[in-house]
Amino acid sequence: MGNRTNSSVRAIVNVFFLLLIALLGWGCASAPVASSPAEPAVESTIFEYKRADDELLMWFFFLEDDDRSGDAILVMLPNGETMLIDAGIEAAGSQLKHHLDRLGVTHLDYAVATHAHNDHIGGFLPLFGSVTMDDYVTVNVPHSTDTYARVMRGLGESEIPITYVEAGERFSLPGGVEVLVLNPPAGTTGDDVPPGSDAAGLNNLSLVFRLDYGEVSFLFTADIYRARESALIDTYGDVLDVDVVKVPHHGESTSSSSSFVDAMSPEYAVITINILQSLPIYQRYGKSGAQAFITGIDGTVLLICDGSSIAVHAEHPRDSDSLF
Ligand SMILES: [Zn+2]
Repeated sequence: MGNRTNSSVRAIVNVFFLLLIALLGWGCASAPVASSPAEPAVESTIFEYKRADDELLMWFFFLEDDDRSGDAILVMLPNGETMLIDAGIEAAGSQLKHHLDRLGVTHLDYAVATHAHNDHIGGFLPLFGSVTMDDYVTVNVPHSTDTYARVMRGLGESEIPITYVEAGERFSLPGGVEVLVLNPPAGTTGDDVPPGSDAAGLNNLSLVFRLDYGEVSFLFTADIYRARESALIDTYGDVLDVDVVKVPHHGESTSSSSSFVDAMSPEYAVITINILQSLPIYQRYGKSGAQAFITGIDGTVLLICDGSSIAVHAEHPRDSDSLF
């Protein structure tokens, strides 16, 4: 994102958001949205679910704030190792820490920063010193903000190594998890940010990767815009066809072109946003056949994957059938 929402726009968006919540019947408890491979039926299981040996878990955290709070996604690999994909804004860092505490996570095997905007890296700051990290994985595209400088300083002080990744790299993670990096293009550096491009320049060079566990595939799209989506379709084609997508750029209309949504054809789509930006984008995923979640409405979303099937549980269950 990069730009703060001004208060008048935010007020309008919030009114819209409340209307949407009313339309969706938020608050009406319903059955969990899926029933395999496990069946935790109440919201407390979101943070208390006990992982079976072969399961990969993924939490898309809801972070509350007056401003847009950003992405923070925790992946627990089948061998118990942990990966945090982005950490939200610094102001919501204490919420993130609380979530990690509830899950018993005091160590990150992989701290992934998709790009240098505040709503993705700010939340790492409160973690330095209390959560140990083996490796900080990011793109070789620095930023000029104070937040970025402080994160880099924090990494140095905690002696956390930085690994820069780019398209074409593959990683085999413990437990049979495979990662393929799709963006930014090989050789990308900060010099590739177009002058005067505002947030778009960094967003389009953000880290996009596909993660596979068994027969199940996930696509993390960070904050890319339509132009980059189009380039990825040209380069990767069917590689983009996945079961689960972290919707690009918080579900904003800068992203999620119809052709990109069609290329991914996900079964589940998760929009990580506390202030809804675009109802049409949300509906686009529904029309494509995906079950779409918005953390601002559904709360923290937990995915449970055994390598062949996925179960999805929202902190605030609702009847998703009424949405589409
Ligand atoms: Zn963002």
